[in-house]
Amino acid sequence: MKWEPVIGLEVHVQLATRSKAFSASAAAFGAPPNALTDPTVLGLPGALPTFNHEALMLALRLGLATGCEIRRRSRFARKHYFYPDLPKGYQISQYDEPLCAHGSLEVTVGDAVKTVRLTRIHLEEDAGKNTHQLGATSLVDLNRAGVPLCEVVSEPDLRSAVEAGEYMRALRRLVRYLGVSEGNMEQGQLRCDANVSLRPVGSTTLGTRTELKNINSFRFVERAIDHEIARQARILDGGGTIDQETRLWDAQQGISLPMRSKEEANDYRYFPDPDLPPLCVDEATIAAVREALPELPAQKRARYAGELGLSVDDALTLADDRALADYFDAAVTAYGKGPAGAKVIANWILSELLRELSRTDTDIAACPIAPASLAALVALIDDATISGKIAKDVFSEMFATGAGPDAIVEQKGLRQVTDAGAIEKVAAAVIAEHSAQAAAYRAGKQGLLGFFVGQVMKQTGGKANPKLTNEILKKLLS
Ligand code: ADP
Ligand code: MG
Repeated sequence: MKWEPVIGLEVHVQLATRSKAFSASAAAFGAPPNALTDPTVLGLPGALPTFNHEALMLALRLGLATGCEIRRRSRFARKHYFYPDLPKGYQISQYDEPLCAHGSLEVTVGDAVKTVRLTRIHLEEDAGKNTHQLGATSLVDLNRAGVPLCEVVSEPDLRSAVEAGEYMRALRRLVRYLGVSEGNMEQGQLRCDANVSLRPVGSTTLGTRTELKNINSFRFVERAIDHEIARQARILDGGGTIDQETRLWDAQQGISLPMRSKEEANDYRYFPDPDLPPLCVDEATIAAVREALPELPAQKRARYAGELGLSVDDALTLADDRALADYFDAAVTAYGKGPAGAKVIANWILSELLRELSRTDTDIAACPIAPASLAALVALIDDATISGKIAKDVFSEMFATGAGPDAIVEQKGLRQVTDAGAIEKVAAAVIAEHSAQAAAYRAGKQGLLGFFVGQVMKQTGGKANPKLTNEILKKLLS
């Protein structure tokens, strides 16, 4: 293609506060329509907004985690438009003085790490929801009206639909790590408008963009953008020009439709909201929020791959989800033994544990095996109490019952046989019983050793120490 795609995303993140941005109504999903309203949400005359401190704390957390500058004194503005889901006739937002600006987000695309610049993160309130029914009826539900949002605006730094998808994944991972939002796209907690333009490869000026609205599922981010890139390329290839417009993504048909020509800022008649004082944040608050930030996904990944020497893929998988990463960290700490120990723990989690979790459709948060129990299980292999093979059975039992490894080993009599005399007795009997194979081995068929080991294991229920068994059989067969 002779065109280079340029993409900038505006992502609305619903903040996980208990109450709404400017009033005390609960901010919850799934309540009966219009159950979560009050005079402020309804825009009744005389009702005054009071800003929710919890929303500020979450926005600061997101701003600081993305390296933004925090404005010590920012402002709320009224953004005017008419729509039935907006009873006041304006949305409280931030305009020329947003809370956070000039941050960045690290996005991993294949093997490359790309830093996407963030223009700004500002606070605003959500609108309600209209449902258009067949016939001429539309329904309005104001439960979502007034729920606090952070709008995260990226610079036009993304160059493909795949990069945009990874950006969304990185942002979702981050807000979940931070506890800023549940980041559930299907419930509208993460909503994305994609700005897309094309320019001739090699050009450094920006082409005319369109803005895609209504990308409401993770699957559709890439699909909608790819579709728009193809649409624009077709027009430009045919010698046409792109209209700057807002388009609506229709997920069902997999196409975008023109919605309106692009609005200008002055269409909204922005002005500072006289009902709200400037939003002031002091140094102590910023320092406290910064201090309380958890280790972030990118830092975790770097530590896992660097300090602990895990493969990049393993580091990515473990750091992808905060609960999984916390589990891994706890198990590594319980087990000790530095990077070597971390690798062993990582292998158990990435193979056995993730398999069982997915097979039983269990969330890591509800994992029946505590991190310390996993560490204790691995320690039982190290001190030769059980073999690696038996450990897998013990693991399954731990997962099924939630019991600790020691209890299971004792109760089921799985303790490894390390008594050389006992193993030798079994080995001698096995050799006597299979004299033909023994003769073949002695005549040079060394490969038969595995057969004898298998027989001894069978006789001992898999409990004979494998290393010792090997040595004893070799001795007896020589
Ligand atoms: P608004 O859409 O509200 O008018 P902006 O003009 O600031 O706001 O742009 C919003 C988003 O559009 C940003 O994410 C920005 O990176 C992106 N953007 C701006 N110009 C272009 C362009 N020519 N091509 C692609 N994205 C663009
Ligand atoms: Mg926009």
